[in-house]
Amino acid sequence: KELPADPVLENSRRQVEKACFSFVTPKQTANPKLLHVSPEMLKHLGLSEQDSQSEIFLNVFTGNAVLPNTKPYAMCYAGHQFGNWAGQLGDGRAINLVEVQHDNKHWAIQLKGAGETPYSRTADGLAVLRSSIREYLCSEAMHHLGVPTTRALSLALSGDDVLRDVLYNGNPEYEKGAIVCRTAPSFLRFGSYEIFAAKQDITTLKTLVDYTIKHFFSHLGTPSKETYLAFFKEVTKRTLDMIIHWQRVGFVHGVMNTDNMSILGLTIDYGPYGWLEGFDYGWTPNTTDRQHKRYRYGNQPNIGLWNLYKLANALFPLIEDVEALESILDQYKIDFEANSLKMMRSKLGLETEDVFDTSLIQNLEDNLLLTETDMTIFFRKLSEFNKEKPSEGLKIIHDAFYSIDELSDDIKEKWNAWFQRYSERLAQEETTSEKRKEIMNAVNPKYVLRNYMAQLAIDDAEKGNYELIDELFQLLKQPYAEQPENEKWFAKRPEWARHKVGCSM
Ligand code: AMP
Ligand code: MG
Ligand code: MG
Repeated sequence: KELPADPVLENSRRQVEKACFSFVTPKQTANPKLLHVSPEMLKHLGLSEQDSQSEIFLNVFTGNAVLPNTKPYAMCYAGHQFGNWAGQLGDGRAINLVEVQHDNKHWAIQLKGAGETPYSRTADGLAVLRSSIREYLCSEAMHHLGVPTTRALSLALSGDDVLRDVLYNGNPEYEKGAIVCRTAPSFLRFGSYEIFAAKQDITTLKTLVDYTIKHFFSHLGTPSKETYLAFFKEVTKRTLDMIIHWQRVGFVHGVMNTDNMSILGLTIDYGPYGWLEGFDYGWTPNTTDRQHKRYRYGNQPNIGLWNLYKLANALFPLIEDVEALESILDQYKIDFEANSLKMMRSKLGLETEDVFDTSLIQNLEDNLLLTETDMTIFFRKLSEFNKEKPSEGLKIIHDAFYSIDELSDDIKEKWNAWFQRYSERLAQEETTSEKRKEIMNAVNPKYVLRNYMAQLAIDDAEKGNYELIDELFQLLKQPYAEQPENEKWFAKRPEWARHKVGCSM
């Protein structure tokens, strides 16, 4: 059939059987308006700046026009949410438009917030401006930080009002609707496989796994039990890699449900995510997870493993080898220890290995937890530490402390002791201070999308002023560079923003 899906018949909510996706048609919007386009993403897709200013670009990337000979679709998947099986979820507000091959790269192009699909359940299929700004800015920022992630092509207003909250007085509070166009080689998730295993639909499971390997893991070879195992092993490795990057930059995802775990090991679904300000293993930005804190910073590596167990279960019918799967999962734990040590060494500018590094790092983490200490500022400033003058260490990282008054003599002593240790450790290194600074500044970002920064851009945008979106977008393209004109963004979170964190819907 050549026509796009019939929006009445095909976008309607339902349980979908034996299918990996459903054809749908994006919703027409009242008054679409582009707010921002990523020039890097344009280039990746073979589009020009001029293309992005055309009427057709606006219409296609807000769902108001469907390109000829294309059939947009929403993907079917399930998932474990907060540890519980949730059954069919699927793209409730994401619609894949087309897939593009350019410069030997494959891109799936997806709109988020373009209306209902069979998977919208009780929700509206729409997205509000604040959550769209957060996804747009953060996913591009993560890319420039070197963290595997889905990307964003454009951010647009739909011109429609979206209802998210009803005020205490019973009045509905409408917000501006928005649409992000996001891109990735594929949006397949762990939950995409879980759904077929749960339904014991092994035929479709195999079709999907074979498709995934053929298109995204073709180096692993043709379908066989060994190939499936190699596939699982690579997903395990990529997932761990991604999470170690999160730990390195202080990113807390906030909803690591299995439906939000990309099979390609990309950061996906920028909902209630947040950035560590004060270094704190117990912190989560997700206000609905404040009791159990399942998805707290320090638990992300464990949750990655928990999710991989669920994926292993889903792939089991094709592999039927418990021991082989378990040995891959056990390896995750070993690799996690080794890779985090490696990552922490790099943050400290250590190029050689010493048996006491684990204890040096543990000691540092204990200190970081003594008082509220800004993670980004601490590690960035640490590159200025002079190993000949350990007693000046505290002065160098001074800016990282949220409350100087909290620095008791006891705490100061602990820091001085650590700097002494660090200085002795650096004495074992051959690298010059100059070189060490360079190495450290390449792994410890100076600029990240602090929660309040996104909030400022959102507050302005709600009032119709979109300049800050562009300012932050430009800033975060070079997170490791010194940007003297942007020093104001290398600062602790202001006090008013202490409890202001993200949003998910
Ligand atoms: P998330 O927690 O964002 O991963 O969402 C979980 C599920 O809810 C996914 O199936 C989403 O597509 C769906 N969902 C979230 N928000 C909406 C919405 N506004 N409309 C329809 N479906 C949604
Ligand atoms: Mg999701
Ligand atoms: Mg989401």
